Amino acid sequence: MLSPIQEYLKTLHSRYASVMDGHVADYIPELSKADPRHFGICIATRDGHVYEVGDTRQSFTIQSVSKALAYGLALEDRGEEHVLARIGVEPSGEAFNAISLKEGTGAPFNPMINAGAIATCGQVLPTDEQSRIERILAYLSGFAGRQLDIDEAIYQSESDTGHRNRAIGWLLRNFEIIDEDPHETLETYFQQCSIRVTCRDLAIMGATLANQGVNPLTQKRAIAAEYVDNVLGVMATCGMYDWSGEWVYRVGLPAKSGVGGGILAVLPGQLGIGVFSPPLDSQGNSLRGIRVCMDLSHELALHMLNPA
Ligand code: GLU
Repeated sequence: MLSPIQEYLKTLHSRYASVMDGHVADYIPELSKADPRHFGICIATRDGHVYEVGDTRQSFTIQSVSKALAYGLALEDRGEEHVLARIGVEPSGEAFNAISLKEGTGAPFNPMINAGAIATCGQVLPTDEQSRIERILAYLSGFAGRQLDIDEAIYQSESDTGHRNRAIGWLLRNFEIIDEDPHETLETYFQQCSIRVTCRDLAIMGATLANQGVNPLTQKRAIAAEYVDNVLGVMATCGMYDWSGEWVYRVGLPAKSGVGGGILAVLPGQLGIGVFSPPLDSQGNSLRGIRVCMDLSHELALHMLNPA
């Protein structure tokens, strides 16, 4: 027999499975190959229960969802003060790829837009044993509780077409937000966006954040406890592109979406949600994903500002 929550997720899935609105991202040619019918919903609780329906084991690239987690690694490597001096925490209200840097200092508004995410990559410290991307991959794998890998075809496509991000990288170099040739930092960023995950991984990553940084399945710490609120803070204010204010109003959960069609949302102290559906709305958020999260928030009373 299905649990009530599993039953509910099935109903929710069938409510939106036939919605065919939105468009799969095609500004990176490889991304346009995504199947618009793919649709998965997963909830993972902080005590390790996982409920899933639909295409929850289908892999896709994490894209901008990675920005939230990589921010945690930069904070661990450099400390809050150092990172805050280079990357702000104000919503920009602009598109993810806007060339928007604060006047004077050139600091990106926040780590969730490309400028801030590229700057964040530049703050991650390589070690003698591991390159930046190896460290980021290991870090994100800790959140997922399994070894993740990179989709090389997507990475190549990102790198071949990422001229706008390269322009942002050079501007960051100009303002000394990154202090070396941006080439390696940009390739790291493209690889980071091309990390392959599943909807289930996103839910478990969310549950890890909900569980003060300890992965509820492996029981291993993925992020230092002191930085969990910083990561959730920027997700809550800046995580859903230029729909972030509306998202908090309507859904009320720290979240991050990516152009691969993934959304990771967190009810702090309780659970993580992963939704995967490639067609995007005009803001670049998964269209079915937004609807699912709105319903979840209302029907299960998950709004963080109105706890049940
Ligand atoms: N790789 C993407 C880019 O920088 C990330 C986009 C996203 O998911 O917002 O264009």
